[in-house]
Amino acid sequence: MTRCAITECNDYTAPELDRAFRQIIDNTDFPAISGKTVFLKPNILSDSVPEKAITTDYRAIEALLRILNEMGAEKIIVGDSPGTQMGKLSARLSKIEEAVKAQNAEFADFREKNRPHEINGVRIPMAAALDEADIVISFAKFKTHQLMSATGAVKNMFGTIPGLNKSPLHLRYTTPETFAGFLMKVFEECHVDYAFIDAVIGMEGQGPGSGTPRHIGLMMGSENAYALDRAEALIMGYRSVPLIETAEKLSPGISDAEFPLLQPSSLIIEDYKRIGEGKKNTLRSLVIGTLLNFFRKGNNDRPRPIFSADKCRACSRCVNICPAKALSIENGHVVFEKRKCIRCYCCHEVCPFDAIKVK
Ligand code: SF4
Ligand code: SF4
Repeated sequence: MTRCAITECNDYTAPELDRAFRQIIDNTDFPAISGKTVFLKPNILSDSVPEKAITTDYRAIEALLRILNEMGAEKIIVGDSPGTQMGKLSARLSKIEEAVKAQNAEFADFREKNRPHEINGVRIPMAAALDEADIVISFAKFKTHQLMSATGAVKNMFGTIPGLNKSPLHLRYTTPETFAGFLMKVFEECHVDYAFIDAVIGMEGQGPGSGTPRHIGLMMGSENAYALDRAEALIMGYRSVPLIETAEKLSPGISDAEFPLLQPSSLIIEDYKRIGEGKKNTLRSLVIGTLLNFFRKGNNDRPRPIFSADKCRACSRCVNICPAKALSIENGHVVFEKRKCIRCYCCHEVCPFDAIKVK
């Protein structure tokens, strides 16, 4: 049985992080690092300051890199490729760039270095670091996610597909369930050896880009990323999330694990602001939703993005990423064509001015 280690980690000070990481590593099946090339994939969703808790925290990345160096890693590559910005730019504001430099690791921009992989019969560019590395580690952030309810270590690897190449894939996989199946294929292609989730400060509410930071006080790690994501969802208080539900249907037992340290069932945060809660399903709304769903491509029963004219600065990031071409800018405002929208929430994810809510 695989193992999933969850331990207290109350802040981002170096001694606290070092203790937490070593305790997790000692209690799970951590791969041998000595003499190896390691690719560490944090979540660097956008060019945002660490206080917003949108990215894996730079101090946690630096502490882990220090340990990997001490374990004798030959070379360490760190990288991510956000939807609308250069990975390097995002790494700068979030201070991840300085953490990478301080530990003599190399930052990889997947837009510059990628190779095609075939997934479900389609050639998709993916980070060249996946092929260069002997060991691949996913380092996700404890956050809610509009489409998948929670983002985690499996979905984190979707970021190995460079920049806007990710967005048209939403047109092929339009429901949370089909998208979950695709994420599993991407994850498989990445050959991930180990996964961590930074849950010192997590995000609740309108995640993954516009939610509210919340102190969770945990660090989590496992050789089984599905078990890790299941534990994360449980701590958030979800009964089920699309990724784990789909994964268990396709591969029963894939997310099973033992918990040698803290038990996730004892860590459930009852008042965590989860996705899709707070909206009552009356009989009338269920009937209308089902009919709309039948006539309109199957997604219109889900909440839609709402654009705030007051907050919008017409930066066009949402327009550029929208795979359904449902958005345009006219006279300095976003024009939204509701009928075209497939509810992928990419626009919400990339808006840097909190001008999009999902309701
Ligand atoms: S809604 Fe957000 S992402 Fe879209 S144009 Fe306005 S500020 Fe930019
Ligand atoms: S408007 Fe937003 S949610 Fe709708 S398809 Fe475009 S990016 Fe996706």
